[in-house]
Amino acid sequence: MFKLIEKEKLKYLVIPAFEESGMVRHCFTTRVGGVSKGVCSSLNTSVTNENTVENVRRNLELVCSAVGIDYTRLVFSDQTHRDNIRIVEEADIGKGITIASDIKDTDGLMTNIPGIPLITFYGDCVPLFFLDTKNKAVAVSHSGWRGTVLKIGAKTIMKMTEAYGTRPEDCLVGIGPSIEKNCFEVGPEVAGQFKESFDNWNEFIMPVGKGKYYIDLWKANKLMLMGQGIPEGNITVSGLCTMCNEDLFFSYRRDKGRTGSMSAIMELR
Ligand SMILES: [Zn+2]
Repeated sequence: MFKLIEKEKLKYLVIPAFEESGMVRHCFTTRVGGVSKGVCSSLNTSVTNENTVENVRRNLELVCSAVGIDYTRLVFSDQTHRDNIRIVEEADIGKGITIASDIKDTDGLMTNIPGIPLITFYGDCVPLFFLDTKNKAVAVSHSGWRGTVLKIGAKTIMKMTEAYGTRPEDCLVGIGPSIEKNCFEVGPEVAGQFKESFDNWNEFIMPVGKGKYYIDLWKANKLMLMGQGIPEGNITVSGLCTMCNEDLFFSYRRDKGRTGSMSAIMELR
C-alpha cells in the first residue's frame, strides 16, 4: 500500500519502501489542497483542462514544497501513450516549467543525478516508480493500457540496466493509483492487443460476457516487472482506484475527459 500524507490542506501519497530508503523525495499527488476551480478542483497539475498556467504552477509549487522539492527544477514528460524513455541530465532541469522543452513523445523519464525532479502526469493510467538502491538511479513511467501493451515498465528496467548498470533485484518499484480491474471494462479490440502482446494474458484479463473484458493493469504490470527479475517483495501496489475515489482523484473515464491530472514526482536526494 501507499501511505497517505496530510500536510496542512494538502493530501499526497508516498511509497513506504521508498521513504525508508532515504534516497529519494517523491509523491503521487491527489486532487486535494490546490487552487484550481471547477472540473480541475483543486490540485490539478496539468494545463490540459485549465484556463491558466498560473494555477497549475501554484499547485506544483504547493505540493513540491511539501515534499521538499524545488518545483522550478521539474523536468516534464510529454506523454503520447507510447514507450519512449528519456535519460534526463543537468541540461534538462526546468524543461516544461521554467524553460522551453525539447522533450517530445516521451512517456518515461530516468536519471542518476541527484536534485533533478522528474514529473509524469495521470488521469487513470498506471504510474510506475523505480528506484535502483545500489547504483542510485530513479525513473517514472506512464503505463496506461497502451503503455502496458507496449511494456514500457519492462523497457524502463532494461534502459536503466543499459544506462546505469541497474540489476532488477536491486530495484524497488511502486505501482500507483490508477483505474482498477472492476472499473476498466474494455471491448475486444483492446483485449485483443493484450492477447497479442502477452502470453500470460489470461492471468489478468477476465471475460465478462457480450464481448466485454475486465483488465487488471496493476497485475499486468506487476507480472511484467517480476518477469524482468524484480522480486515480488520489492513491488508496492497502491491498491487505490482513481475512478472509485472521487474525493481523492481525478479520473479521465469517470469525468468523461473534463478533469484535472495527478502527477508522479520523484528526485534522487
Ligand atoms: Zn474503481
